[in-house]
Amino acid sequence: MTTETPQPSSSETQATDFIRAIVVQDRQTGKHGGRVHTRFPPEPNGYLHIGHAKSIVLNFGIAAEFGGKCNLRFDDTNPTKEDVEYVDSIREAVRWLGYDWEDREYFASNYFEKLYDYAEQLIRKGKAYVDSLSAEEIRQHRGTLTQPGTNSPYRDRSVDENLDLFRRMRKGEFPDGAHVLRAKIDMASPNMNLRDPTLYRIRHAHHHRTGDAWCIYPMYDYAHALSDAMEAITHSICTLEFENHRPLYDWVLDAVQTPNHPQQIEFARLNLTYTVMSKRKLLQLVQEKVVTGWDDPRMPTLVGLRRRGYTPEAIRLFCDKIGVAKRDSLVDVALLEHCVREDLNKRAPRVMAVLHPLKVVIENFPEGQMRELDAPYNPEDPAAGSRKVPFTRELYIEREDFMEEPPKKFFRLAPGREVRLRYGCFVKCVGVVKDDAGQVVELRCTYDPQTWGGSSPDGRKVKTTLHWVSAEHALDAEVRLYDRLFVREDPEDEAGGGDFKAHINPHSLEVLRGCRLEPSLRAAKPGERYQFERLGYFCADLADCRPGALVFNRTVELRDAWAKSQRSADSQG
Ligand code: ATP
Ligand code: MG
Repeated sequence: MTTETPQPSSSETQATDFIRAIVVQDRQTGKHGGRVHTRFPPEPNGYLHIGHAKSIVLNFGIAAEFGGKCNLRFDDTNPTKEDVEYVDSIREAVRWLGYDWEDREYFASNYFEKLYDYAEQLIRKGKAYVDSLSAEEIRQHRGTLTQPGTNSPYRDRSVDENLDLFRRMRKGEFPDGAHVLRAKIDMASPNMNLRDPTLYRIRHAHHHRTGDAWCIYPMYDYAHALSDAMEAITHSICTLEFENHRPLYDWVLDAVQTPNHPQQIEFARLNLTYTVMSKRKLLQLVQEKVVTGWDDPRMPTLVGLRRRGYTPEAIRLFCDKIGVAKRDSLVDVALLEHCVREDLNKRAPRVMAVLHPLKVVIENFPEGQMRELDAPYNPEDPAAGSRKVPFTRELYIEREDFMEEPPKKFFRLAPGREVRLRYGCFVKCVGVVKDDAGQVVELRCTYDPQTWGGSSPDGRKVKTTLHWVSAEHALDAEVRLYDRLFVREDPEDEAGGGDFKAHINPHSLEVLRGCRLEPSLRAAKPGERYQFERLGYFCADLADCRPGALVFNRTVELRDAWAKSQRSADSQG
């Protein structure tokens, strides 16, 4: 795997990637009658993650660009791992990302009867047979990459015997594993997927939609190809690991002679640094309570990213930037964070919050008085409006914005030094109050009444502007600071023989209580996103934020590692 700089792609009708190039060409040659019909086919066995977003944006995006359609299809052929909880969450995630499948919601399980009929057809054509070898024996007969397989002794059963057995499989006469239905293709094929792959297996299991109607279930390759054909899909876009399955996909469609034959096209799946993407591993994190749930803001799931404060626009922008390629790569998670910042920079109101409060008393500001300051929500966007911020004798500033003995490069507050308070005036530190342990617990300051508006008539300059809140008016809040869930760039790389959970970041969550927020946030609604000035972007927690019990998640810091790395790459190149 290589780390590569993704190429930007515009999303218009000219071909910006190899898949769109295929679609453009197919339309020119009139293949599929010029139609474009894609599908997004999740298996409802987990919540969708940012990798799925790449597939969703691609499939729905191509359909939209070429005047086509995109179906949502639940690939629910595996009864033991699937659940309606996942079906609901998938619908919600696709909608949240901004896509609409209208009335085109399908389930592979709705096709079970048809898929069964097609299987009988294959038997009648001599293209499928019931095999009674055990799973272990089938494995032994399969051969290896360098050795051809050997035919099963059951391979030449008569059509009648096959039909009889297959029907009895359906009726439930046999236990799990007694028989399978296999395609009769070629046990010597260099492609292992063509060595008489299994089409149906017996599984006495309850299905979340079909209940106990079936005890045989079709295999993915078989069901997927035929579902695509039944929905008249034109371009069946999937990830690279299915490249070797394409001959089987085509074999199934040719053998059944479906009226249309979709083209399977493979692209590289998204891998992100510091992130695991496999649903199996994400489920493990949930089940073992490494995280609080699928929607934990540290999860790469769409519900997790949403709760963290990511916007659908930012995720779509990210998908657009990474583009689509045919080679596996590892994308820097800093690029995703960069896209989030770019989007939130445009839309998030600026407010003031103090995470580690240090009390400041303005000695020459009268007790009991309040001055309302006008503070724009976004100084670069007048349309964002403004709010009033109260200034009082007692304030809070950020503890780290003061140092009693400042080193050379520290330009913030220190004894005898003057700074500007955002939207307010100049204040000067004239004293320090300490507790018995010698800890600074309060600053004594004076303010200059000539400096309301942020500058001094005598031209006096200050080096720093601090954020602050009125102590009397401040709201109490819990703020959750999230960091990467893994300390290793590629936690899924098990080269060292390690388990991905060995690379979990023990400091991925820091909970701060007693944070102080400006009073305009009193009515913050779950899901609302803000820039806390100088601190980052924050989002009122969807699950836990309530009036009177405010909880904010840090979405992303302000510092943009991605932009910085690009700038230094540019200056070097
Ligand atoms: P996982 O490996 O995470 O369990 P999956 O491929 O089994 O994922 P599906 O529900 O089958 O998950 O995926 C639905 C669609 O999303 C498929 O077309 C699949 O190719 C695509 N997809 C899944 N993961 C990624 C990814 N990381 N990048 C791009 N597309 C993906
Ligand atoms: Mg899958």
